[in-house]
Amino acid sequence: MLETAKKILVPARRAKYAVPAFNVNDLEFLKAVMSAAEKMKSPVIVQTSEGAIQYAGMDYLVAMIRVAAKTKVPVVMHVDHGKDLKTIKAAIDSGYTSVMYDGSSLPYAENVQNTKKVVAWARRKGVSVEAEIGALAGIEDLVSVAEKDAKLTNPAEAARFAKETRCDSLAVAIGTSHGAFKFKGKTHLDIKRLKKIATLVPLPIVLHGASGVLEDVKELAEKYGAKLGEARGVLDADIKAAIRHGVAKINIDTDLRLAFTAGIREAVHDLPKVIDPRKLLEPANLLMREVAMRKMRLFGSAGRS
Ligand SMILES: [Zn+2]
Repeated sequence: MLETAKKILVPARRAKYAVPAFNVNDLEFLKAVMSAAEKMKSPVIVQTSEGAIQYAGMDYLVAMIRVAAKTKVPVVMHVDHGKDLKTIKAAIDSGYTSVMYDGSSLPYAENVQNTKKVVAWARRKGVSVEAEIGALAGIEDLVSVAEKDAKLTNPAEAARFAKETRCDSLAVAIGTSHGAFKFKGKTHLDIKRLKKIATLVPLPIVLHGASGVLEDVKELAEKYGAKLGEARGVLDADIKAAIRHGVAKINIDTDLRLAFTAGIREAVHDLPKVIDPRKLLEPANLLMREVAMRKMRLFGSAGRS
């Protein structure tokens, strides 16, 4: 059933598990994610970025996710990285149950002002709001932040921001980055900073840019011709530590993209006589489902629906 993010994230933070939020652009990703959620009895957040909305159209996405949500597990329909207030307003009016307003690149006062505006719209329709303070480096769809402009979240500022905006969950920057190339050397999640934020901010904390860039999936993609070089993600141990300290929503985009790429490459290579797109897509779908299930186990959301 469709739920708000607040309804599933507050208990998650309390019980120290995290709900995965998967980016979807089309039916294949959506089906893989839903089938994983049903199998694992996990609540799930299905999120569409502004890029996904441009690609597929909001009406298509909303209709598909509504159908997908006709199931026993709680499903949140969420806008990821909404920067355009018009798009966010349209999403709230179209039936999304949760939206992120991302004003993280704006000056503090402007971020507060816009977030408050979104919170007021959302409250009228019972929709949850995720906001962001601090900025991640990397590229995610239409959002690109240079490393020099990335800024880790200041805990005191985060507390003030949460109070002033009355948002329902808060995305923070503690060293992760968007995309497949997250770290040059060792990973460096700032768990100390997260601890401080979590003591000051009682809301569910959201971790963006948290894909693991799974070694086996990366190897499979490379075996069939992908060139991913130094792609590197967040370690499982860091994810677990983050969940212990207040993170209740973890965004996964890159890991599903990698699984899709690996599956498609393998199918196209192994089935040269096949032209049925359903057959060519099947290995990708299965691999995406497998990756989504792994996340549910790692985040502790399995069995929580
Ligand atoms: Zn993000």
